[in-house]
Amino acid sequence: MRNLTKRRWLLILLVLVTPPAVYGFMKWREGGINGGQKYAKPFRIAGNLYYVGANDISSFLITGPEGHVLIDGGYPGTPPLIMASIAELGFNVKDVKVLLSSEHHYDHAGGLAELQKASGAQLWTSDPSADAIESGGDDPSNILPIRFLVWTRLIRYPPAHVDHRFEDGDTIRVGPIALTAHITPGHTRGCTSWSFPVRDADRVLNVVSACSLNVMGVSKYSGYKSDFERTFRILRSLPADIWVTAHARQWGRYRKFLARDTVKSPVDAFIDPDGYRAYIDSGEAQFRRGVEH
Ligand SMILES: [Zn+2]
Repeated sequence: MRNLTKRRWLLILLVLVTPPAVYGFMKWREGGINGGQKYAKPFRIAGNLYYVGANDISSFLITGPEGHVLIDGGYPGTPPLIMASIAELGFNVKDVKVLLSSEHHYDHAGGLAELQKASGAQLWTSDPSADAIESGGDDPSNILPIRFLVWTRLIRYPPAHVDHRFEDGDTIRVGPIALTAHITPGHTRGCTSWSFPVRDADRVLNVVSACSLNVMGVSKYSGYKSDFERTFRILRSLPADIWVTAHARQWGRYRKFLARDTVKSPVDAFIDPDGYRAYIDSGEAQFRRGVEH
């Protein structure tokens, strides 16, 4: 009788504890695969440049008559959001001919393999990023516990095949679209910024997609300091009317997106050369103060 009561209590406890535990596990899985990213309405930034990323993780579509270019793939779970956004804008993912990667970290390169499969696009990366992307995110600069998590597949993403490796200063073209690769290392060895012109009505605007300027405490490599010094110089030398980076919160997507309703032209909300300089200034100030992320 006593045992039966005990068993009954155990059963009740199990019934009470299981649903939140399963829910917690599902949330954890979802968080790991998609980093908690949510749908964000896609929109035209200027000319043929569109935002197709999630609420924070950026992804950009540059469209052209001979095919499109897509920058960055988000987490392993982000591609469905990116592809839905491309479709919502009226474009076909199969017309994406070139996939570009800014950096090999899990939150920006994790979705490249799926996007590559869906589009059939050629993937271009810098040489140091290529090895990491082809291994699903293994980076010799990482501290051992992180590498161990990659090796055990706990934080490994689907490896993508890198079709081409670009050099610093190379221009990648699809029809009239031309993006120049600037290898701006420090955050990672292969971190790449992009500069390209966008024609918007009767004006040409210079766009810079700048790499992260965060020092990563878990993956500092020898030489990262001199790399950052060079990166700050390179970024300062690029003319930018419009600037973006891999996390939307950093380039002010929300503020600028809201501002689209109040300025004369929606594109004007994104013209922000001062914000670009402030982004570099703040990255450099944190670097000089020894801030690590
Ligand atoms: Zn990163």
